[in-house]
Amino acid sequence: MSQNAHAIAEVRVDPCIMPKDDPEWKFALAANPNSEGWIVTIATEAGDCGYGYASSMPHYGAPLDAVRANVEDFGKTMQGTDSRAIAAILHKLDRQVVGNNQPKSAIDCALHDLQARKLGVPLCELFGGAMRTEFESLRILPIKKPADMAANARKLMNKGVRHFKIKVHGEVDLDIARVAAIREECGPDVGLTIDANQSYTPKDAIRAITGMVPFNIALAEQPVAAGDLRGLKLVTDSVPVVVEADEAADSLDQVFALVQGRVVDAVSLKITKLGGLRNTVAAARICEAGGIRYRIGAHVGSRLLAANAVHMAATLPGIWYTCELTEFDRLLDDPFEGLEVENGKVRLPTAPGAGVTPRAGKLAGR
Ligand SMILES: [Mg+2]
Repeated sequence: MSQNAHAIAEVRVDPCIMPKDDPEWKFALAANPNSEGWIVTIATEAGDCGYGYASSMPHYGAPLDAVRANVEDFGKTMQGTDSRAIAAILHKLDRQVVGNNQPKSAIDCALHDLQARKLGVPLCELFGGAMRTEFESLRILPIKKPADMAANARKLMNKGVRHFKIKVHGEVDLDIARVAAIREECGPDVGLTIDANQSYTPKDAIRAITGMVPFNIALAEQPVAAGDLRGLKLVTDSVPVVVEADEAADSLDQVFALVQGRVVDAVSLKITKLGGLRNTVAAARICEAGGIRYRIGAHVGSRLLAANAVHMAATLPGIWYTCELTEFDRLLDDPFEGLEVENGKVRLPTAPGAGVTPRAGKLAGR
C-alpha cells in the first residue's frame, strides 16, 4: 500500500492558540482569552498536504486535549489508506468512535483540502460549485454592559460591518436593554440577531424575545437548554421572531429531529459540530426537505476554518440570512493567511483547496 503515492503517510497535529483582541470576550457558556484548537495536516506518500482545523469546543463536549487525542487515534487508523477514499475513511472513523465530531471535522476538511489541491480546484467545486462569491460580515458582540456593547458595534460599523449578533445572558430586562442600546446606536438599517446560548427558561425566553420585537431582531438563537426540545418548540410557537437552533443541532440526527418535529424555524450549521463538510451538506439537505431555514453559524478559529465555512456558504442554495464567517478578524497570530474582510465583506478564495496557506514557520517541520 505504501507504493501508492496517494496513500496517507502522516497525520500531524499542531497547536493553534489564537489570543483574542479583546481578552474580556465572553458569552453565556464560557470566557477564555484565547481561541484554542489544532491544525491537522494530512500528508501523502507523494508529499501532498491538506489542512483542517480541529476546534476545541468544551460546550459541545470537546475539550482541547481530548480533541488532539482523538485526531491522533484517527491518524493511526488512516495510516496507509488511499487519501482519495474520503467517504470510506469517514465511514470507518464513524464506526470506530461515536460522535467526536470536532476531530472528525478536521479530518474531513483536511482530506477534502488535499483532494481539491491535487485536482487544482477550489474546495467548493467538490460540492457542486459556487452559487455566490461575496459574503457580508456578521460580527458577534460579546456580553458586556449595554453601552459598552453599543460602542463595540459602532467600532465595527466604522469598519463596514452591517450585521451583528448580540450575545445575551438569561437576564430578561438587561438583555432587552442590550438590544435597545445597540439598535439605538446602529440605526434602523443594520441587521441584528441575538444568541442566548441556552441561558433562558422557556417562559423567560418568550418574555425576552417579545420585549426585543420593537427593536427588530431577525432571529433568536438557542434561547433554552440544548436538550429541552419541548421548551424550544414552545418558544418557537410563541414568538413572532425566527427561532434558530445551535447547540441543539450538534449532529445529523439532532438536525433531523428538529426538522421532523418542527421544533425551530431555522438551524445554525457548523462544520465543526456536525463533523465535517459532507455532514454539513447533508444537514442542509435535511433542512431543505423539511422546509426549515438554515445558514452557516460561527466558525471561530483560524482562517483555515473560516475558509472552509466560506466554501460551504458558497455552495448551499437555501441560506436565508447573513452567515457568521468573519470571527477570525478578532483573533491574533493566525497560522494561516489568504482570507481577509474588506469593507465589511469577505470573498470566496479562488486558490486550490480551501484557498488559504500556512504562514512560513507556523507549522512544525514546514
Ligand atoms: Mg450560537
